[in-house]
Amino acid sequence: MTKDVIDTVIDWIKEAKKIVAITGAELSAESGLPDFTDPKINPHIDDFRAGKEVRANYWKKIKEMYLALAKAQPNPAHEALVELEMMGRLDCLFTQTTDGLHHRAGHSTVIELNSTMLWVTCTNCGKDYTIDAILSILEKGIEVPVCEGCGKDVLKPPISFPGQPPPHWEVREAWMMLHDCDLLLIIGASLDAQPVSSLPTLAKEKGAKLVIISEREGQADDYADAVIYGKPSHVLPHLLRRVKEGIELS
Ligand SMILES: [Zn+2]
Repeated sequence: MTKDVIDTVIDWIKEAKKIVAITGAELSAESGLPDFTDPKINPHIDDFRAGKEVRANYWKKIKEMYLALAKAQPNPAHEALVELEMMGRLDCLFTQTTDGLHHRAGHSTVIELNSTMLWVTCTNCGKDYTIDAILSILEKGIEVPVCEGCGKDVLKPPISFPGQPPPHWEVREAWMMLHDCDLLLIIGASLDAQPVSSLPTLAKEKGAKLVIISEREGQADDYADAVIYGKPSHVLPHLLRRVKEGIELS
């Protein structure tokens, strides 16, 4: 972390009137979870709907991941964001993650751009199930869960599989929030895919500063006003401590 960049970002956090953050898969990884939206995990929606064997393979793969998801805990990055929100230094949090760890950390409002893995929905009749209900079905040795409502076996989490459009409402909400924010923090998130890839451009066009915090270099780094390379679970608590110092001194 470069000292000058850190100092500048801390000043921006203290001065901003409206701060929006978008988090992504690096936060999940630091809590030991995969990116559940990864196309390597999810089959194409047409194959999933057409093939019982495809669905059985999916549920076999996802069962182990569900067990990890049920036990996963928020890490210091999630906790620092909760504190920033409580201090009035974070107005809105969007996330590409689907693991619910921001909620578990205590965030009051989180908008999940890719929906959630904590629910499963019947794609035939729309009946919802909790992750626990599905796990108990899978643990009985049933390979493909069957809907109690309609008897079909086409249940899936509401995240988008390849071939499905991303959720609309959440992205529209992000566009609305970015229209009058003056600081956008992109934290451990991927900006490679639409619609999220256009959000930094929109924020900058509206006059916001763009700060990227990530372990890895990305396509938007040159476009950002500041980039802090490092694990979000290290960088965010450090920023939080420094912002608090400033507030205590003033
Ligand atoms: Zn159903």
